[in-house]
Amino acid sequence: MTDTKTDLKNFSTDQLVDYVESLGQPAFRGRQIMAWLYRPGIKNFSQMTDLAKVFRSALTENAYISQFDNAITERSSDGCVKFGFTLEDGNVIESVLIPEEERNTLCISSQVGCAMGCAFCLTGTMGFVRNLTPSEIVNQVCAVRDFLLIQDPAERIGPDRVTNLVYMGMGEPLNNLDNVLTSLSILTEPKGLDLAARKITVSTCGIVPNLRKLGENSPVNLAISLHAVDDATRDKLMPVNRRHNIEALLHACRDYPMPKRKRIMFEYVLLEGVNDSDNHARLLAKKLRKIPCKINLLPYNECDALPYRSPTRERTLAFQKILMEAHYSVFIRSSRGSDISAACGQLASERKGQP
Ligand code: SAH
Ligand code: SF4
Repeated sequence: MTDTKTDLKNFSTDQLVDYVESLGQPAFRGRQIMAWLYRPGIKNFSQMTDLAKVFRSALTENAYISQFDNAITERSSDGCVKFGFTLEDGNVIESVLIPEEERNTLCISSQVGCAMGCAFCLTGTMGFVRNLTPSEIVNQVCAVRDFLLIQDPAERIGPDRVTNLVYMGMGEPLNNLDNVLTSLSILTEPKGLDLAARKITVSTCGIVPNLRKLGENSPVNLAISLHAVDDATRDKLMPVNRRHNIEALLHACRDYPMPKRKRIMFEYVLLEGVNDSDNHARLLAKKLRKIPCKINLLPYNECDALPYRSPTRERTLAFQKILMEAHYSVFIRSSRGSDISAACGQLASERKGQP
């Protein structure tokens, strides 16, 4: 029976303080609860031994601590692990752990499905189902943290904890900004999951009106899914461009409130014959001028359901070279996890129980 109870993992520290005050408790009790909620193995209030017994009973009556304990995992031949989590309402979301020797990057979802309908993206073909709550965002990280804690060291590629986080799974984070901001507050809270903001990246297709609010409320890194340099191509690939075109998006990027020395990451998925010519590369170099940035080239992860193809390695390198000659830092991102459909843009799920 969780319907009528409050999930305390939906609250930032300030919101927890408000909550305990509404139960007639002093503010510091909220901070005390925050210090318990994200410890591994904490499932109920009886474990919070520094709270008075009566208060613990009041909490048990009114609130609960959600967690994902039903993960289905699939391991890729390159070490990536895809997690499928069934939510309380039966929807399924996915997260992907990408281990490297020095770090573990976790790619998390912010929505079930996505409303933005990008032509090349499998999540886009699902349509929008609903926003994730802050706890559903944060619980992806908790579950993978627990997975790493008990993982057999012989099977481990990276460290024993999540070191980097990217909001690049299912969904458009800036269409669920309030819940994403609450999740960021919990994830970076020293009493919460204590991740460094500089190790977290939020990626957006370019919901221009919400960009500033993200920058003003959180110091995390920003990634922009650009993918095209002329409006005609971007209109076709990414319907969001018809509302917020390239000029508006790049203007918002120039205006983005960012600490000195921070750079915006532009993501550019290379689609054969669509956006991968030398001219496209030259125009990209021109358009990004004066924006402190890095460029990530993503060779397209092909899937049977969609008509796009990935360019050859030579084409990708030629594209990169033009940008490097224009003095940009350009990385070619390897598509890991593709054999288990865990690579970028391959996350899509069916509602459990549906035919
Ligand atoms: N909605 C946000 C967050 C998802 S991030 C956004 O679009 O930025 C997922 C990244 O992978 C985006 O840059 C997306 O455009 C890209 N992508 C989608 N499908 C892909 C595919 N099949 N191959 C490579 N990248 C893809
Ligand atoms: Fe949504 Fe991002 Fe996929 Fe576009 S690329 S459909 S915004 S998840």
